[in-house]
Amino acid sequence: MCKFSVLGFLRFVWSEKSNLQLIVDGFLFHLDKKCGSQQFWQCIYCEKTKCRARVITSGEKMEKRRSLHNHQPHSKIIKNESLW
Ligand SMILES: [Zn+2]
Repeated sequence: MCKFSVLGFLRFVWSEKSNLQLIVDGFLFHLDKKCGSQQFWQCIYCEKTKCRARVITSGEKMEKRRSLHNHQPHSKIIKNESLW
């Protein structure tokens, strides 16, 4: 079962492996690194399809987004779609 949480405008989900993932426009991102107050997120398909999409968040805000996905949205694998 997935656990969802919402922080400001950001939506998160705990994956089956208990990793925190960020949901943006139906795509899933995992935390790449933290630097100061900023968090750098990478598309979960960065290895699978070499997707280069990234998101930078700071606190409750999304600071930057690069949405250059080379694959379909992850909507189908996000189980509880009613929350986003
Ligand atoms: Zn992607």
